[in-house]
Amino acid sequence: MIGLISATAAGTAARDRLAAMWPDRTRVYDGPVGDAVRAAFAECEQLVCFLATGAVVRLLAPLLGDKTSDPGVVCIDEGGRFAVSLVGGHAGGANALAHEVAESLGALPVVTTATDSVGLPGLDTLGFPVEGDVAGVSRALLDGEPVALKAEVNWPLPPLPVAAEGAYTIRVTDAVLGPAEREVVLRPPTLVVGVGASRGAPVEEIVELIEGTLRDAGLCAASLAELATVDAKADEPGIVEAARRLGVPLVTYPADVLAEVDVPNPSDAPLAAVGTPSVAEAAALVQGGELLVPKRKSAARPATATCAVVRRPGRGRLAVVGLGPGARDLLTPRAKAELGRASVVVGLDQYVDRIRDLLRPGTRVLQSGLGAEEARARTAVGEARKGHAVALVGSGDAGVYAMASPALAEASDDIDVVGVPGVTAALAAGAILGAPLGHDHVSISLSDLHTPWDVIERRVRAAAEADLVVTFYNPRSRGRDRQLPMALAILGGHRAPTTPVGVVRNASRPDESSRLTTLASLDPATVDMMTVVTVGNTATREIAGRMVTPRGYRWQDDRQEDAR
Ligand code: SAH
Repeated sequence: MIGLISATAAGTAARDRLAAMWPDRTRVYDGPVGDAVRAAFAECEQLVCFLATGAVVRLLAPLLGDKTSDPGVVCIDEGGRFAVSLVGGHAGGANALAHEVAESLGALPVVTTATDSVGLPGLDTLGFPVEGDVAGVSRALLDGEPVALKAEVNWPLPPLPVAAEGAYTIRVTDAVLGPAEREVVLRPPTLVVGVGASRGAPVEEIVELIEGTLRDAGLCAASLAELATVDAKADEPGIVEAARRLGVPLVTYPADVLAEVDVPNPSDAPLAAVGTPSVAEAAALVQGGELLVPKRKSAARPATATCAVVRRPGRGRLAVVGLGPGARDLLTPRAKAELGRASVVVGLDQYVDRIRDLLRPGTRVLQSGLGAEEARARTAVGEARKGHAVALVGSGDAGVYAMASPALAEASDDIDVVGVPGVTAALAAGAILGAPLGHDHVSISLSDLHTPWDVIERRVRAAAEADLVVTFYNPRSRGRDRQLPMALAILGGHRAPTTPVGVVRNASRPDESSRLTTLASLDPATVDMMTVVTVGNTATREIAGRMVTPRGYRWQDDRQEDAR
């Protein structure tokens, strides 16, 4: 809940606007401001104070405890111009809240924590436990001092400007080891503990078993992601309570699913009781990973609980990012954000060069020349499977005659995939030419590298018959110059020689050029691989030097009636 506090009429008006926009997330604290701040501080995760920072600082000072547990506090000035993240920027979420509130109220967010102001992720905002010298290592990152990354487990991290060697270290591990000096230890949730228990097994015995097993294996409980067991034990009080005490979710699986899992230590007892020869090992292993500790029994005799420990690889992320036709301001903000969080970028040299400045230091760039599409797709998916955040980039939209389909054909469901759409060459050219795509249209690639010519020809014919506006991609290259004249001849069989044709080369790039001509007078020699060719339908007209295809079926019906 977000507590809202105000004093003046202007502040109260802004407060009420916010409360009306976020009715489920906010609670208004009326009454004397001091009491209101104290009550909200005790009861809410976050506060938005429509008060001067000085007043809020004085009120908060005696209340502040620890930055990991204090609420995040945002102040809005009397004029509603600034949303200041005052305390709890990271753990309290005040930085993010300042941005959100600013967006809603039309104010400017003011965020002063160092890592955010230079675009570095805060080491304590990665979503998992962090130990050690966070302040020292953050400062080293900001000062550009070499910080070594020692990743003992693979986990998708935002890109950090790390080096192979350095006086400071970021260690990513699930092993028990205290942070050394000038070191930060990140503990991603890698460990899954499978548990089995007989009915009524005491929680103490289960927790002792799990903690003792982790301790003996040198594994850190802070990296525990979840407990896993069989469906039949979903309500077993000892297991449920153990998960609660360890602060992790309990995940359960059907017995027949667990029975399929290959385990080192199957036994008859669980088979008779719940229908699978293994509960602890199978439940830990069912989602894949490496068995670190095989089945162990609890101390009591007879033992009432078993457990096994598995390390799962991090879930990687593959972003398929369209970079647009060329110009930087046609690259979407979402594409920029994906490029900024990628730890690996895969793409053609010429495209990667266009966006290199948007990558954070430390991002690996795997580029390759034209032609190696499948290899590129496989590389991107392989890197994501290892747990990296990968951006696979392509010009225009990455799903249009580009990398998205070969990549997704390779990708299994063990990675997250996000697509970021881009402005295609057809759309960029359309905007330059006027409004050629105002009615139904298609894109056809004339490259017979991936498609046999007779298939291409059939599609051109169908488009001709259906009176669709056509944008030709890959229209002509050296050594492949017969296709465009043939395609234009097919369209010419159904459209007048005066049909407008737009030729756009290097849309939105520094050497952009465009020409409006007609089916009869287009010279194919003026077309190359940096070009798209847009052929109008029977309704397309040149109006004031622009190519315009009227909208609407009705207009066409009228026209056909006219012709009758
Ligand atoms: N994914 C891209 C298309 C890749 S196919 C997209 O969505 O636009 C490559 C072909 O696209 C080129 O041969 C050319 O026909 C066309 N093309 C790409 N960018 C272009 C641009 N800026 N101007 C004109 N044509 C372009």
